[in-house]
Amino acid sequence: MGVQEHRDLLSNIGVDVDRHATMMSMGLESYQNQFMSQENRPEGMKYFDWFMSEIQGGRIAEINELRKNKKPAVGTFCIFVPEEIIVGAGGACFGLCGGSPATIADAETELPRNICPLIKSAHGFKLQRTCAYTQSSDFIYGETTCEAKKKTWEILNKHHPVHVMNIPHMKREKDLKMWKEEIVEFKEHIEEVMGEKLSLEEMINGTKIINEKRKAMQRLDALRGLNPDVVPISGKDALFVNQMGFLDDPKRYTQKVNELCDELEKRVEEKTSVFEKDIPRLMVLGTPIAPPNWKLHTAVEGSGGAIINEESCIGHRYYKDNVDLDNIETEDDLMGELMKRYSAVDCACFTPNTPRIDKILQMYKDRCADGVIYYTLSFCHTYNVESHLVTEALEAAGIPCLVIESDYSPEDAGQIKTRVEAFLESISFKNKALKFKSKN
Ligand code: SF4
Ligand code: SF4
Repeated sequence: MGVQEHRDLLSNIGVDVDRHATMMSMGLESYQNQFMSQENRPEGMKYFDWFMSEIQGGRIAEINELRKNKKPAVGTFCIFVPEEIIVGAGGACFGLCGGSPATIADAETELPRNICPLIKSAHGFKLQRTCAYTQSSDFIYGETTCEAKKKTWEILNKHHPVHVMNIPHMKREKDLKMWKEEIVEFKEHIEEVMGEKLSLEEMINGTKIINEKRKAMQRLDALRGLNPDVVPISGKDALFVNQMGFLDDPKRYTQKVNELCDELEKRVEEKTSVFEKDIPRLMVLGTPIAPPNWKLHTAVEGSGGAIINEESCIGHRYYKDNVDLDNIETEDDLMGELMKRYSAVDCACFTPNTPRIDKILQMYKDRCADGVIYYTLSFCHTYNVESHLVTEALEAAGIPCLVIESDYSPEDAGQIKTRVEAFLESISFKNKALKFKSKN
């Protein structure tokens, strides 16, 4: 199967089929070059390789089957979307394409050049009609996290329905009260799409499904990062698994991630590593890394480093917290717990955002990491400005840090690789010196 077998469906949902086919074949080629050439990959990655081949075909057919039965299909660019409600309604919640440079020129016909590439890429996918997920969505979930996104929704809404949720930028009691009301309003919007009311049991069921998914992702995070002697999966493969969590059916995905984790557990026991023993272990902090933006991971792991964690929304920030279902008796209780869970997200859109810094320092210690890369997309002001406080805390703790700001163009790939190589070299030198010192 694949894109070709679903041409009629893609055409019916308004995809520009020829242009889409060209982009998909480029994406698959890039995936093959960057992923399939890795040595000693876990067997469990075969499912994710297969999913990649069906990413804009078979999965799109599944989502459109749900829609035929009036189940909601919601596209998003942000992890603040209360996906538990959508899944409880029997629908699908998915991340939209926004990681490719190929759509940016089209977006710049409507948006300024100097805004973040994620927004431009996503907007361009809608203008080109080359993202089958965007075309399959009843509406796009928008939020008020950053200035560029907030204003883009008004323009995007001319081309596709957008529901905007007002995310506060502080976490005072009055802000959290408003947040809870926004979640209730989102639920009502889902009910409008479905044409029927959602029951508490359905929403609890959706929450359980998503809690299980996040638990599986936490398990993968622990296996790749918390065993200092062994790296059982490459950072690139683990990133890809996390990226697919925003597209796949959550129950199937949970099962496949758990199967992969069973295999990784054995690898950890047997000390089967995909990299050499003393390889520098890096954490990546910062903005989301949407597919097919694999530039940083390719540069690091092609230069003798291992990425053991992403402190990012496609990563730890997404799965670190679950919804507490222990004392839910009413819908109001559930809305309150959803609000608590979502307000624990430490996005740089909040002020102050100090818990993020404490968390990073703790994560670094727990993972016995050797350094961090603070990665921001160009023109992402929130993460860029916040890097000052984060790097200051890292420096005070003696943690090596490399700051990289990049967009989606391949032009700076060489420059990034050179900077990463120099960073890795300095870490290796430091580690050798420490070893020498401890022996003498
Ligand atoms: S960084 Fe903030 S705005 Fe961006 S996806 Fe994450 S939570 Fe949403
Ligand atoms: S990466 Fe930054 S600028 Fe881009 S959408 Fe997310 S918060 Fe906004």
